[in-house]
Amino acid sequence: MLSSVELSARELGMLKLMADFFADKPELTAKIESYTAAHYALVTTYSENFGIPAEDAIKVFEELQKKVNDSEYIYVKAPAPLRKLLQLPREELDMLRVLIDYFCENPKMAPAGSFLSKRTDALAEAYHWFHGSNGGNGEVSREILKNLIETLQTAVYVKIETLAPLLVTPNPYEAALKQLDIAAEKLNLDPGIHEILKRPMRVFIVNIPVVMDDGSIRVFTGYRVQYNDALGPTKGGIRYHPELTLDEVTALSAWMTWKTAVTGLPLGGGKGGIRCNPKEMSKTELESLTRGYARAMARFIGPFTDVPAPDVYTTPEMMAWIMDEYSEIVGYPAFGVVTGKPINVGGSRGRNEATSRGVMYTVVEAAKHLGINLKGATVAVQGYGNVGYHAAHLLHEIGCKIIAVSDSKGGAFNPKGLDPQKVLEYKNNTGSVVDYPGSGLVTNEQLLELECDILVPAALENQITKANADKIKAKIVAEGANGPTTPEADETLLKKGVFVIPDILANSGGVIVSYFEQVQNQMNYYWSEEEVRDKLKDTITNAFNDVLSMSKQHNVNMRVAAYILAVNRVAGAMLARKGKAITTLESTITPT
Ligand code: NAD
Repeated sequence: MLSSVELSARELGMLKLMADFFADKPELTAKIESYTAAHYALVTTYSENFGIPAEDAIKVFEELQKKVNDSEYIYVKAPAPLRKLLQLPREELDMLRVLIDYFCENPKMAPAGSFLSKRTDALAEAYHWFHGSNGGNGEVSREILKNLIETLQTAVYVKIETLAPLLVTPNPYEAALKQLDIAAEKLNLDPGIHEILKRPMRVFIVNIPVVMDDGSIRVFTGYRVQYNDALGPTKGGIRYHPELTLDEVTALSAWMTWKTAVTGLPLGGGKGGIRCNPKEMSKTELESLTRGYARAMARFIGPFTDVPAPDVYTTPEMMAWIMDEYSEIVGYPAFGVVTGKPINVGGSRGRNEATSRGVMYTVVEAAKHLGINLKGATVAVQGYGNVGYHAAHLLHEIGCKIIAVSDSKGGAFNPKGLDPQKVLEYKNNTGSVVDYPGSGLVTNEQLLELECDILVPAALENQITKANADKIKAKIVAEGANGPTTPEADETLLKKGVFVIPDILANSGGVIVSYFEQVQNQMNYYWSEEEVRDKLKDTITNAFNDVLSMSKQHNVNMRVAAYILAVNRVAGAMLARKGKAITTLESTITPT
């Protein structure tokens, strides 16, 4: 869980003062000019302005410096009654750090330390020097400073998160709840059922000790959230990520619940993960961690209770380790405990690319509906992992032109088209798609805003937000990733006429073939790749058309339509199983 530190009023005062100092406030300028050391000027002015002894002011300053330097994120709370946490963008946070370094006469800041008369220039130069090209030119730095000053002037307080929730802001669980609320309202859902559906059924948190390669012991936190099993055993991937939070896993488990429901699978929704950085761990350490997770969760998962699968930074090999560990515990080869396994230990043919194949099938249906010719249609793909690469490859195979792809390090752009297979080989050799021969550099943010027909976000949550939604130019957004679009952004995209194939439908190919894998494991009889593909195509195409007709019937976008369908099915199953014990308003649920 995140631990957060809120700045005291004094510390906030200090920040505001720093901002004032650079804002050329006349009342401060007079004082500052008379001092030689900026640090001393600041502390003294602070002490005078707030009636605090100078020694205390120094302490406040040092404490603030420590907190800001140790922190990854700062939130600025807007004045009541807005009561909303505003995230301070990375640039502003960096700017704040530069301000503090500047006042501390940090040796790193020497080039800027002597300019008291040209304060803004000095700061801009220092910022640029510190943050390289990311800091932009002097103009950009001055703009950041100006914005920071404005933000701080209107802030009631500043809150510092000491652990970096980089990819979970805005909170995906809040987004998941908002999406549920919209569907509940349209469905006139019974409030009791709505209450149940707002919360996960079960949550497990485990701490897993791992002996690292250097002999030290590290303890990693793992989660498994079983959100709802009204329709069947819970199902959902395991994510390894350094910034993973329980709220993120909970949101993902809720989305799994709606995803299995919208595609008509007899499964519930769950999700799991470990807060770790797999890129910094050896294979031995990862195996030990994965087996530790399997042992810790063995009592709670199983072929008939909850079946994990791969997700971000987890692989078929890891699924084999989990299956092996679980089998050792139960005493028989329990292939069905996880899906996404290698084919020689119970994996399904076609599982590896299934999510992306599903994305491709839904894009084909969307293009038919919108009258877009896919031959030569331009595609940008954010994230070049399992989902991103296969989506690029399969869309290329049906005639689309892949003009940009990216990974966590940045992107490659070529308006004449990229060869997905060659880009993958390049990424495997160099560790990134960046600088792929013949391509230009594009950031992850720029990629989303490219002129293209189809945009496939296939990385993580919160990529299309209210900050960039009005700059999206794609005609179709096919959500390979889970939760890439925030609810606010959804509204903007709808107004702009962008056709969004929502995550719970677009990327459901993964769980559909995972379900086929479970079925094959239980029968101990395996299908050909063609059979898997045909069944996947039928299932996801039917789901797409169900959602499309629901969207026409209720005059809502595809996401709301998918939620209406899914929530109605889950609620219907709850009602069928528990009857009047959970609701008195049967009539609100229409059988589908
Ligand atoms: P993966 O680990 O194979 O790939 C993730 C990719 O995203 C990598 O290329 C990584 O470099 C890139 N990435 C990470 N942070 C990024 C950032 N900030 N900006 C741009 N790129 C970034 O994971 P995956 O299995 O392909 O999953 C991707 C998304 O698809 C996730 O949202 C996942 O939940 C969703 N999803 C996966 C499956 C599946 O079957 N694997 C199924 C449904 C949904």
